[in-house]
Amino acid sequence: MDAATTRHPALDLPFDAEAILAGLRPWVECESPTFDAAAVNRMMELAAREMALLGARIERIPGRMGFGDCIRARFPHTAAETTPGILVLAHLDTVHPVGTLEKLPWRREGGLVFGPGVFDMKGGTYLAVEAMRQLLRAAMATKLPVTFLLTSDEEVGSPSTRDIIEAEAARAKFVLVPEPARPDGGVVTGRYAIARFNLRTTGRPSHAGSTLAEGRSAIREMCRQVLAIEAMTGEDCTFSAGVIHGGQWVNCVATHCDLEVLSMAKRQADLDAGIERMLALQSSSPDVMLEVRRGVTRPVWEADAQVMALYAHARSLAQAIGFDINSQSSGGGSDGNFTGAMGIPTLDGLGIGGAGAHTLNEHVTVASLVPRTKLLAGLFATMA
Ligand SMILES: [Zn+2]
Repeated sequence: MDAATTRHPALDLPFDAEAILAGLRPWVECESPTFDAAAVNRMMELAAREMALLGARIERIPGRMGFGDCIRARFPHTAAETTPGILVLAHLDTVHPVGTLEKLPWRREGGLVFGPGVFDMKGGTYLAVEAMRQLLRAAMATKLPVTFLLTSDEEVGSPSTRDIIEAEAARAKFVLVPEPARPDGGVVTGRYAIARFNLRTTGRPSHAGSTLAEGRSAIREMCRQVLAIEAMTGEDCTFSAGVIHGGQWVNCVATHCDLEVLSMAKRQADLDAGIERMLALQSSSPDVMLEVRRGVTRPVWEADAQVMALYAHARSLAQAIGFDINSQSSGGGSDGNFTGAMGIPTLDGLGIGGAGAHTLNEHVTVASLVPRTKLLAGLFATMA
């Protein structure tokens, strides 16, 4: 990487916040919840078309496990196709079900723009495309070939795409992840380790009125487990029960209850210990069976010297643009966990500024659009 001693012209490309918003709006209005593969595929087509218009070669990677497809877009470059380049890694699925637009329509209030997925992470992904668009328009070649990988299932821990991400990252020299910026605008140079678990209790059925005493409630046992699991939370590792489903008829003692739990730790060893505790859980009743299955895991990603060098380069670009960034390790996971843990220099949190991810208050700040797009353009143009 060059020291940014001379100001690169990519930092002065004519980015325009209004034009960016006009282009981003159709992305936000194309709802794409992870569990709706057809909806995610519509979003993939929108992004693929846009990048095809820029001259990128588009490859569609079929989805599996019921999830949507992924898109790989290779931008034209004079280097051989096998030259390790910059991988831009982004997900186009969101946590918001189809219909969220009725409650959270695209709307602008002063310096904020609201919408499902606008912050996490259609906004940042769009900025990365916009950065490429202006570089290409100005015929400013990037030093390294740039490939975008757009994935379909990040919001559920990337069960169907981890292999694609790791295969693509193995061919890359650097990975840039335009996930949302940290609240103070900082970028992400490390992420905690995360594990997910699926639990099921199986009880004994009976009529909830006439033969109540014969039944053994799967819900009741799971409630005990929830309290025990969340009580294991400590400094080293956290445990949170986020999804619970049980029972079908109010006049039946429930025979099944399902629970999903998420654990997070700053250190891999602490997460591994937490995983052992979860897998060792026992039912408190001999008549109710408890199963604990381990779901997807994100390995810890800790910054090394290469990551910090990449961050230092990004910071010098930001300062040349006119703002400052810091580097943070983030509690939330992302696909950057995979590439960072592989040792491929990864910089994450490069996306848009805003707040309210995963809520009906999700929004971005208009003021962040141009500076963050310039930062991405500067990185694409100068990383070598
Ligand atoms: Zn995200």
